[in-house]
Order: sequence, then structure tokens, then C-alpha cells
Amino acid sequence: MNRIAGRAAITVLLTLLLIAGFSFFVAEYVTKANDWVLFTGSPHIYNGTNIGTGTVIDREGVMLLDMEGERTYGESAAVRKSTLHWLGDRYGYISAPALSHYSAQLAGYDIVNGVYSYGQNTGVAKLSISAQVQTTALEALDGRKGTVAVYNYETGEILCAVTSPTYDPDNVPDIENDQSGAYDGVYVNRFTQSVFIPGSIFKIVTLAAALETVDDIQQQSFYCDGVYTIGADKITCEAAHGNQDLQQAFRNSCNTAFAQVALQVGAEKMEKYVEQFGVTKSVSFDGITTAEGNYEAVDAADANIAWSGIGQYNDQINPCAFLTFLGAIAKEGKGVEPHIVSQIFVGLSETYEADTVSGKRIMSAATAETVAEFMRSNVEYKYGDDNFPGLTVCAKTGTGEVGGDNKPNAMLAGFVTDPEYPLAFVVFVENGGYGASVCLPIASRVLEACKNVI
Ligand SMILES: [Zn+2]
Repeated sequence: MNRIAGRAAITVLLTLLLIAGFSFFVAEYVTKANDWVLFTGSPHIYNGTNIGTGTVIDREGVMLLDMEGERTYGESAAVRKSTLHWLGDRYGYISAPALSHYSAQLAGYDIVNGVYSYGQNTGVAKLSISAQVQTTALEALDGRKGTVAVYNYETGEILCAVTSPTYDPDNVPDIENDQSGAYDGVYVNRFTQSVFIPGSIFKIVTLAAALETVDDIQQQSFYCDGVYTIGADKITCEAAHGNQDLQQAFRNSCNTAFAQVALQVGAEKMEKYVEQFGVTKSVSFDGITTAEGNYEAVDAADANIAWSGIGQYNDQINPCAFLTFLGAIAKEGKGVEPHIVSQIFVGLSETYEADTVSGKRIMSAATAETVAEFMRSNVEYKYGDDNFPGLTVCAKTGTGEVGGDNKPNAMLAGFVTDPEYPLAFVVFVENGGYGASVCLPIASRVLEACKNVI
């Protein structure tokens, strides 16, 4: 009896161990299978640095990349150049985080069948960008370094985000031995990974902060004789603008006035609102985290607080974060987050579809409306509506001084208010010169191209 009872006990124990072990395996499998199959060394999915399965198309179905094997890019050299930084290269110099992020969905991986599509149906990722608008934007940049981006502030779709310099992955130049500087920073996606000194487009931020905090700011008058003296420091202006109200000062992009506006808001509140507006924060979407900007005013001297309010001092912004900020102004103070991957299919099944993700309210609807009105008056009375036929555009130009003998960075930030074209846009041209003359023609061409694909 004792021996039988002993054996029964051992059997029960072994059974329990088996169940425990199996449960452990199932738990591990369920929680970690994605990592096991999709870890970046997996020959099933990855080819070097970038994902090695599936096809990528643009918003209109134009083939951009077949990721199998040696990678086959699209037919047009212009399209290849203008989309390279979203697709990644063959050698791991340029990664494609938005595609890698969806490797499971692209591989058709599911927990029951494993990588069931491997060798059968491969995934198709549809991006929200348009090859046509991408090439238009890159052509408009005309070899200058910078970035141009447009997104739909109602849906979050990025229609255009080009970065320059770039190159044709099917005809790779000798970047390593280039002495001309033409390829400086070529591996960087300037839209997501870089920061710029904003210059006067930052006056949008200071204006919004003032509208939220200084009750009588719109009743005040700002006098400009071309120089504003703070202690031993001088803030210079392009012209002697004379007496101006806030809207005129914004349209004149008057440094004297905006120095005073920033000082009235005060260092602490400037910092608080820059934070609240998300202007210097990273934006995260599709596995991408954008570069963080910078803003400092507390503990700075008054002259530096003044400079910080006009987009100089230690101000730095990332183009994608600023685009998202503009979208929130256009959408009455509460925007949507951008995205670039719209849909993924494997065979007939959809394995991913982008949602429109609302952000937090960053300013009151009344403030957003006034900022939009002021930006609208810039285009109507200064830049010219003839730049944007058929569109109602709100915008602010900027010229960011970068120091030394270098030409300033030229910038333009804005959005379209027509309900059929809910587009926010940014144009950054490094060492481009004067903001308006450089950036308006670029924005004009790119927005026109967007009309055909929205
Ligand atoms: Zn002035």
C-alpha cells in the first residue's frame, strides 16, 4: 500500500510540475512571442537594420518600396529621394522606425499561427504621405537644406514631410568623401530628429501666452523706434514701426513690441505656457519620438527673457512638434497627433488601421481664435493671398539668426482654414535668408499639390 501511495504521490507531483511548466511556457509565449519572433536579429523579419518583409505604398497606392531581399525602391528617382528617410536605406545608415514599429502587423504575425504569412502573403503598409507632394516639396527646396511638412489637423495624417539633403538609394553618392558640405547631416530626418532656432515664428507662442495671461494686452499700444533698450542690452528691430496695437506688432513682426510682450507675461509664465503648448516636448507617433526642443527664461536676465519671446536666446524647436502646435491652434486649441502609417494589410486582412488621436487642450478656444485671426491678417495684409490661390491661409514667417557669417534660417508656419483643406504646415530652410521671400513660394507650391491628394 505504502509503495502504491508513494508512486501515486510522485505521479501527482510530476503532473503538477508538467502543468506548471506548460503554464509557464504558455505565459512566456503569450507575453514574449512577439519579441522572440520579431527581435531585430530574426531572419524571418529583419534584413540588417531595417525590416525585411512587406511592401510600402503611398496614400494613392504608388509603390515606394518592396522590403524583401535586396529592397526594391519605386521607379522614380525623385520619389526615391523624397521618401528615403521614411523607408530607410539598404545599409542601415537611415532607419525606418515607423515601419519597424509595425513589423508584427507587416509580417502578418499572430500568436496562434506564428509568422503565417511568411513566404505567402506579405504585408502592405500604406503611408499617409503622397509621393507627388513629397517630390513637389523636395523640388521646391531646390537643394537647400531643411524640411517641409504638411499634416491634416482633423485626421492627423502627414501628407508631406521631406527632409533635405537626401539622395537616391539606387544611385548612392560618395557621401564619405564629399568635401562640398552638400551631404552634411544627410542621414538625419530633419522633420523628426532635428531642432532649429525658431526666430519670429516663436512670436505665435508668445502671442498665445500673452492672450492667456495679460488681460489688457489687446488694448495696449507698443511704440517702436527700431531699438528697445533693456539695461545695457539693445533689442533691435528691422524698422522703426512707430505706434502699433498687438495685431499690428505681430504683423510687423516687431521685436521691440514682442520683447515687451514677453516681459509682461514674465519668465515663469512663459516657461509654463511653452510647456503647456507642447512646443518643446517630444511628439510620439508610429514608434517615432521626435527631438526635444528647449526654452529657458526663469533666472535669465531681462534682455534674454525678451529675446526668448522673439525666438532667439536658447530657444530651439522641432519642426514636427511645432506643426502639431499649429494644428491645435487651427482646431480651436485642441489638436490631433500626427501619424504617417495609415493602414497595413496582409492578404485581405487589415492588421492595422490608424486612429485619429486627440491631444490635450493646450489653450482656450478664444485664444486660438485670436491667434488664428492675427495669423490670417499677416497673409491678407502682408504676405499676400495671391500666394495661395483658392485657399484661406493663416501664417507667420520667421528669420532665425544663427550667428557668425551664416545666413539666417528661413521659416514659415501656418495652416489653412477652409474646411475642405484642413492643413497645417511648416517650412524650414537652413541658411535660407529672409523668411518670407524664401518660404512663401515653397509653401505655395506644396499646398497647391496637397489639394489634389487630400
Ligand atoms: Zn519694431
